[in-house]
Amino acid sequence: MQYHLSGALDYRQSKTHLAHTFVVPEGATRLMIHFDYTPKQSLGQLVGNDLSLTLFDPIGARGARHNNPDRNIVLSAVEATPGYIQGTLPPGTWTVWVDVHRIQPLDTMSYWFDIETSDEPLPLIEPFPPAPFLTTRGTGWYRGDLHGHSLHSDGKWDVPDLVQYGLENHLDFVTLTDHNTVSGLAQMDRLASGALLTMGGTELTTYYGHALALGVRRWQEWRVGASGLTMPQLAEKVMQDGGLFIIAHPHSIGDPYCTGCNWQYLDMMPGNARCVEIWNSVWDGESGNEKGLRLWYDWLNAGYRMVATAGTDIHRPLTDPRPGFNIVYAIERSEQAILDAIRKGHLYLSAGPQLEFAAAPDLMMGDCAITDTLDLHLRWQGCSKDDCIEIVVNGNTQTTLIANLTGEHRWTLHHPDARWCIATVRSADGYMRAITNPIFMGEGWR
Ligand SMILES: [Zn+2]
Ligand SMILES: [Zn+2]
Repeated sequence: MQYHLSGALDYRQSKTHLAHTFVVPEGATRLMIHFDYTPKQSLGQLVGNDLSLTLFDPIGARGARHNNPDRNIVLSAVEATPGYIQGTLPPGTWTVWVDVHRIQPLDTMSYWFDIETSDEPLPLIEPFPPAPFLTTRGTGWYRGDLHGHSLHSDGKWDVPDLVQYGLENHLDFVTLTDHNTVSGLAQMDRLASGALLTMGGTELTTYYGHALALGVRRWQEWRVGASGLTMPQLAEKVMQDGGLFIIAHPHSIGDPYCTGCNWQYLDMMPGNARCVEIWNSVWDGESGNEKGLRLWYDWLNAGYRMVATAGTDIHRPLTDPRPGFNIVYAIERSEQAILDAIRKGHLYLSAGPQLEFAAAPDLMMGDCAITDTLDLHLRWQGCSKDDCIEIVVNGNTQTTLIANLTGEHRWTLHHPDARWCIATVRSADGYMRAITNPIFMGEGWR
């Protein structure tokens, strides 16, 4: 079987999905697709055009590869190009979607595919060993990363490198969330060890916003509109699958530099989402994290019981020593328990300082007090001498303290004036070093 398919595009087709079908015959053992397009980047344009491919067999999704550098796909029971899912080739009609992430306004483009199958016998390979059975550790604080990429999308390193990064940084858990594919997750699961819990999911990389679907191994639909589903419906599907849905880096720089990186779903501000990644990568002047923090405050003030998370969004070896990690209080070190604790808001985010933030008699971050007054306390250690502690109530700074390496502060809140309270640690130059999730007061939270 051999196909040659082609098409033309201009900027009006930006952010659309175009389907092409082909038939895989009975007995085919290997599928090869060569895809290419022109122009990649026109003279004088700051960024290039960006197309990717999502592949479906007659039964279901077979993967995608965001920013595929060589645009060749090979698929069989014994091999798969990263991003695509290894397995036998069901005969029948397959669909390859051209996902048009970006076309520059003045460009007209052409694209083409050469698709062929062969029925040559495949070499035998050893079956994969099963994922190891891990004894979980008990209740405690676990530090880790919820957002990372590999060669299966636009990462510059492979899955074992992501795991090695987790080990070298003494993390308790690390998470693979490639763009719109689950093809790396089986390997990620097998690399779990007593020293490091490996977790997995997908980054739903849509044209108008990115979101993490954590704890789900099945491919998740991400094509808002073309799939007949809205963003809130896609989020609902993730949650029905048992996954945790997190709006990712809502105020990252968007078009044309990073298509869809900026959250623009007006029907999801925050809609049915209850988690938002306010700390993406490193907290510096270019990250958009400060605006993400303000958005989180706005949602809290609007009565949404939102949980804040961090994610390094790591694509290559770490070069900056200051990313924020999640410090989660979970009943055990397992993926399920970590995600359950995040749903409850039982975590703070930190690039180093250690915090203990609680309220009498036994409330912690994420919990809600139905009382008129509440006694709170904050303890900190691992701060720099000139770090600054702020107590923030309803989004307004109520108290500012010099951290002085380690310390403690106690105060009382009164409802209804106080609805939620967090603590932050900032460096002398104003960048975030640690931030808690809120302790809430009163009823009526959404
Ligand atoms: Zn993203
Ligand atoms: Zn990402």
